[in-house]
Amino acid sequence: MAVSDHVDLPTFIEGVKKRNPGQPEFVQAVQEVAEDIFDFIEDKEEYHSQQILRRIAEPDRIISFRVCWEDDAGNIRVNRGWRVQNNNAIGPYKGGIRFHPSVTESVLKFLAFEQTFKNALTGLPMGGGKGGANFNPKGKSIREIMRFCQSFMTELYRHVGADVDVPAGDIGVGGREIGFMFGQYKRITNQFTGVLTGKGLEYGGSLIRPEATGYGAVYFLSNMLKTKGQDLKGKTAVISGSGNVATHAAEKIVQLGGKVLTLSDSGGFIHDPDGIDQEKINWVKTHKTHRRGRIEDYVAEYKGATFHAGKTPWGVKCDVALPCATQNELLGDDARELVKNGCIAVAEGANMPTNLEGVHVFKDAKILYAPGKASNAGGVAVSGLEMSQNSERRSWKESELQQLLLDIMEGIHASCVQYGDQGGGYVDYVRGANIAGFKKVADAML
Ligand code: GLU
Repeated sequence: MAVSDHVDLPTFIEGVKKRNPGQPEFVQAVQEVAEDIFDFIEDKEEYHSQQILRRIAEPDRIISFRVCWEDDAGNIRVNRGWRVQNNNAIGPYKGGIRFHPSVTESVLKFLAFEQTFKNALTGLPMGGGKGGANFNPKGKSIREIMRFCQSFMTELYRHVGADVDVPAGDIGVGGREIGFMFGQYKRITNQFTGVLTGKGLEYGGSLIRPEATGYGAVYFLSNMLKTKGQDLKGKTAVISGSGNVATHAAEKIVQLGGKVLTLSDSGGFIHDPDGIDQEKINWVKTHKTHRRGRIEDYVAEYKGATFHAGKTPWGVKCDVALPCATQNELLGDDARELVKNGCIAVAEGANMPTNLEGVHVFKDAKILYAPGKASNAGGVAVSGLEMSQNSERRSWKESELQQLLLDIMEGIHASCVQYGDQGGGYVDYVRGANIAGFKKVADAML
């Protein structure tokens, strides 16, 4: 008889833990997916005999390297960089690069694993990968950041390529950092290719890429509300984060008639009962990105707002919530608080912001709850469109891209409904996203 991984779920999870010691984020991400996939493949022996889930949960390759760079005082500094190439069954590895002191191999493995499902959901031919470094850009000068990015790419360039692995931005990596890395890639290889996405418009970047993750998350939220005959008009929204994803999600909520009550950063959250309108969002964008300031400065600028140091915003009463900061920022108690206060929908802009306990709270309460791998896929989707534009050596119009983003988010929503409809008007979007993403990658592998 053929060897099979036909074990039960607890045995499978035990195995994942044993093979990945000290990697709690990675184990968490695999467990969340396996909980749904196990029943789905129960009677599908080919997935078992080919050990498909086991293989997707084992990165194809992990590249780990030293990054040395010189700070402004002339000291040599040393960091660790990684690229996790998780799976390329449906296309070249694709996923962002994160620069943050919390980056570890476990964090990048979970992100690359999630990315594999997310990218499959977009319907575009992209495999899953993720990279980064435990480098903290906070407090560094622009020249230090440039030298770090160049050193990072000096190692990474031999492992990436337009048809191999196409990185982009993530936390701590925006258009400027992509520019530094693209320049270094070009300098070393003497090739102008679509090796990175999130580039500047002048050199092959795509319109709406900066807006895409946040806007996409709100489009997904609107699609979920629509299944209940509702929309965002007059709804209050609690958002965490104040970076690219959070500010663009806030902007789209406001455009669709909602009221944004909160934003946050690692220092705490601001609560503005008057609503954070477009002008205030613009102030946050400038203050956070260009001046690298703290969100707490908001309260000096806008009277009536309050700052809550060291806290997350989940206790603020709202209709909809969008966690747009980072992994595990919304815990079981936070989820219970949101549900208790009448929150009807949660759409994740960050990757795995809700811990497993929180996920189960939302599922048990049967509220509209979209996991990041479905609702934040707009960013990587427009990255995929940037790859297409680079291959064609053309730039598409904004109206075309806006429409494609809307269509892709609607398509992801439809796939989640197809595989996650539990009857009685309840869609389990986590299950839908996991199964739809898995099925595409698994069938390609088979
Ligand atoms: N970092 C983003 C994500 O988590 C975007 C990745 C990309 O554009 O490749 O999906």
